[in-house]
Amino acid sequence: MTERGPGAVAIAAEVTRRRRSAVEVTEEALGRVAAADPAIHAFLEVAGEAAREEARAVDARVASGEKLALAGVPVAVKDNMWIAGRTSTCASRILEGYRPPADGTAISRLRREGAVFIGRTNMDEFAMGSSTENSAFGPTRNPWDTTRIPGGSSGGSAAAVSAGMVPAALGSDTGGSIRQPAACCGIVGFKPTYGRVSRYGLVAFASSLDQIGPLAGNVSDAARLYRVLSGEDPCDSTTSSEPVGDPESALERGVKGMRVGFLSEAQVEGLDSDVAGNLEASRRIFEKAGASVADVSVPRAPAAIAIYYVVASAEASSNLARFDGVRYGPRRSDSSLLSLYVESRTAGFGPEVKRRILLGTFALSAGYYDAYYGRAMRARQLLLEDFERAFAGVDVIVCPTIPTPAFRIGEKVDDPLTMYLSDIFTVPASLAGLPAISIPSGLSRGGLPLAVQIMARRFGEDALFAAARAFEREVDFPGLEAVKRKM
Ligand code: GLN
Repeated sequence: MTERGPGAVAIAAEVTRRRRSAVEVTEEALGRVAAADPAIHAFLEVAGEAAREEARAVDARVASGEKLALAGVPVAVKDNMWIAGRTSTCASRILEGYRPPADGTAISRLRREGAVFIGRTNMDEFAMGSSTENSAFGPTRNPWDTTRIPGGSSGGSAAAVSAGMVPAALGSDTGGSIRQPAACCGIVGFKPTYGRVSRYGLVAFASSLDQIGPLAGNVSDAARLYRVLSGEDPCDSTTSSEPVGDPESALERGVKGMRVGFLSEAQVEGLDSDVAGNLEASRRIFEKAGASVADVSVPRAPAAIAIYYVVASAEASSNLARFDGVRYGPRRSDSSLLSLYVESRTAGFGPEVKRRILLGTFALSAGYYDAYYGRAMRARQLLLEDFERAFAGVDVIVCPTIPTPAFRIGEKVDDPLTMYLSDIFTVPASLAGLPAISIPSGLSRGGLPLAVQIMARRFGEDALFAAARAFEREVDFPGLEAVKRKM
């Protein structure tokens, strides 16, 4: 177990003041990875030499007087994003050896502000999953308990931050893949408003849902990374020109007078008793911090899982059609065009990806389009309207991030429907395009992290960060190092 070092904001300040060099910080991060990762398997590749070179370049920029928001901050990157010169496989055999043509926009923005890329992290294949067990390269383990999953699909990124290997990492969130693993690993995970962060250089899963965002040790670090990542990008026409605001100065605004709504639909019978008790405690924290707390209803929230698995699978089946053995990855047969497609895709994709492609292709097929995809899209619109009505009465909406603490490796792999229910609290915000953050909120009786999720209106990131920071300041969350020390 490595002690978690200083966070991203603290490192950037030290490197900027030249108290430490980016090279030193990078060496330290590489040392932490070497010590901790053999037991965790958060990384698919550690890019030691490239990271050292990047760090030297950052030190030279700092020496010449440049002020960089992420000077020397070591960052781990989920394997579905493009980093120039490295492979990007989405933890899939079908992309083995694939080298992207350039940095994605998220990467180039972090680079511009002095971040150093430590390596590529493990994930569920093509970001489909909630446990990182769907990786073609073996699972990642939860640093809190290595017999358990770290969540998914950004499980490698979450575990790397949680184990203290890096202060921050990038994940992607389609239905919860930043927030849910952050919750399982006791760290902060933030999914921005759809359209805030460019998807250029993010391998598409479901294009109307995918967003890149930060996983970090605290809310301020998440806000710093978000500030750097966000904003319009000519390479992604779905990015918004809406001004980004000032998420970092919103942090200490507090919640006095803020209307915090607790999602009625989450307070269901049968909710895990640790999660339910923790939610009550979270309500008292917001009250103590001065917010006016009430219940708020989003009546169609319980339909979100059903809508999501139709919409996301439909978009995935179309996005993944490009992986055909011709343009990407290993080609398995040349005997005929059909066998080239069939054999390359059969060998290249894992079982969960195949399941989604079949489901999505079915939902989009001529005879069933209206009954499934069309209906899901109409239901999605109604859910959006529910949220609009809810936000007329409150500034943010709170519910748990995960329905249970991290489960055991192997526990749900053979039962996809139970696995899909891990996302029950995260998919509503995804479908509505809302910003949402997961913050550690306590421990279960078994000593595993629990978390609350705060959602805000579209482009309401400032309110979200104010509420998240106020909660973080009040909550009693021991952190992994303190818990391990007591053991
Ligand atoms: N677990 C969800 C799924 O399997 C969400 C994944 C994601 O957000 N990328 O689709």
